[in-house]
Amino acid sequence: MPDSFIENIYYKLPYSLQNIAVSLYGLKLKKDRYSARFSDHLEFLKESEWKSREQIETYQNEKITQLIHHAYHIVPFYKKWYDEHGVNISQIKTVDDLQKLPVLTKEMVKKNQEELISNKFEKASLKKQLTSGTTGTPLTIYQTKESLNLQWAVFWRFRERFGVKYNDRQLMFGARLPISQNQQNPPYWRHDYFNNRVYLSTSHISQKTVHDIVDYLNSTYFVFFTGYPSAMVNLANLMRENDLKLLNPPKIIFSASDALLKNHKTIIRDVFGAPVTEFYGNVEFAGTMSKCKHGRFHVDYEHCHIESQKLDDSENQELILTSWGNEAMPFIRYRIGDYGIPLHSECECGRKSDTFSGIDGRTEDYVVTPDGRKLIGMNQVFEYAENALEIQLFQKEKEEIIFRIVPGKNFGEKDKESLIREFRRRAGDEMTIRFDLVDSIEKSSSGKFRAVISEIDDSQV
Ligand SMILES: [Zn+2]
Repeated sequence: MPDSFIENIYYKLPYSLQNIAVSLYGLKLKKDRYSARFSDHLEFLKESEWKSREQIETYQNEKITQLIHHAYHIVPFYKKWYDEHGVNISQIKTVDDLQKLPVLTKEMVKKNQEELISNKFEKASLKKQLTSGTTGTPLTIYQTKESLNLQWAVFWRFRERFGVKYNDRQLMFGARLPISQNQQNPPYWRHDYFNNRVYLSTSHISQKTVHDIVDYLNSTYFVFFTGYPSAMVNLANLMRENDLKLLNPPKIIFSASDALLKNHKTIIRDVFGAPVTEFYGNVEFAGTMSKCKHGRFHVDYEHCHIESQKLDDSENQELILTSWGNEAMPFIRYRIGDYGIPLHSECECGRKSDTFSGIDGRTEDYVVTPDGRKLIGMNQVFEYAENALEIQLFQKEKEEIIFRIVPGKNFGEKDKESLIREFRRRAGDEMTIRFDLVDSIEKSSSGKFRAVISEIDDSQV
C-alpha cells in the first residue's frame, strides 16, 4: 500500500486517534530498536568508554582483523574489489593497516548496493533504511536487528552523559510530518506514548502558531529536546521576536541530523534556557561520534574507526569511516563527504577515545566560483546576519550567488552588508550577489535543511 494512501487516512483521523496511530508506529520502532540486545549493549558501552588507550587499540585491531576477514569472505563486493586491487587481507591487522585498502565512495555504494549485502543474511530478515539523499545520492542500507540495537545503545549512552535516563520524556523536532499541512489550528503536536515523546510538527512553526506552541510547552515538561537544529532555531527566533519565554526549560537539548552552526547553538541555548550538545551520525551507521560534557566529539570506538585525511592547508580534514557495527552491510574506508578537525591532546573528561572538535562542511555543500574553485563551509557566513531567521545560499550560475533569506523583524541593510563582506572575504569579488527575501525556505524531501545548494554540474568544473 502506498505511504501516501495511509497518510491520507491518518490525516482524516481525529486528534485522539492520531495519537494512538503515532504511538502504534512508535511501538513498532521501539520493538526494533530496543529489543533483546539493547540493554546488554548499553551496559557494555557505559563501561567500555573508560578503557585505557592500550585497551582501545587492542580491541580495535582485533575488530578490524575480523571485519576485513568477514567482508572478504561473505560480502561479494569486497571479495571482487579487493582482488582487483591486489589486496592481501592477511596483511590487514591493525588500524594503521587500513590505509592499504582503497577508499569506498558513495557512487560505488550506489552502484553495488546488492553486492554489498553479506551472504550470511536473508535480505528479507534485514531492516531497510534510506539515506536522505541530501547529497544527491540516496542509498538503501540494510541493517541487522542486532546492529539497530547497538546503534540505539550508542545513542542512549551519549544522552546519559548529560544526565538523561532511557525513556525520559522528550520533545522531538523531527522531519516526519505528524500533521496535515492543511491543518490551521492547534494542537500542532502528536503523542508517541510508547516512547514517551511528543512530535512537534516542525513545518507548522510560524508567526501564527508560535503562541499556541509556547503555551503548550509551558503547560507540560520535557526532560530533553531533540532533533533538527534548524527547526529549533526557527522556533527560538520566533519566540524572541514575540517576547515569549519557556517557563520550564528542559535539562538538555540534543541537536542531531543537521550540522549545528555556532550562532544557532547560541540562539537555541539562550531562548530555550538549556545547554545544547550534539551527536555525529549517519543512516549508514558507518561511524559515529558523541560529544562529552567538555564539548569534544569522541569517536564511538566500540563499533567504528574514523580516519581523517588532510586535503589542503585548512584544519578541516576529510573523514574516512570504517565500522563493524552492522554485519549485514559493512562500510570499510567510506568517504561520506563530512569534514572534521582532529584533536591530538587528551580530553579532560578522562575518556581516551579519539576526539574531534567541529564536524561540518559536507563536500556536496559547496559554492563553485567562476574560476572553478569549490568552496566548502560557506554557511559560516550566515553567522554574520543576526537578523535573518533562515538563510540558504543558492547557486544556479557560476557567476551569481543568491542569498535566500527569511528576514526577521529587524533585518536590514546592515545584515546584507555583513553577508556581502563575509562572502567576498571567502569567495572573492568575481560573482554578483543577489538577495531573495522569502517567507520560507523549502526543505529537502526528507525535511532536512540544506544550507548551501549549488546546481552547477560537477563535470563542468
Ligand atoms: Zn571528553
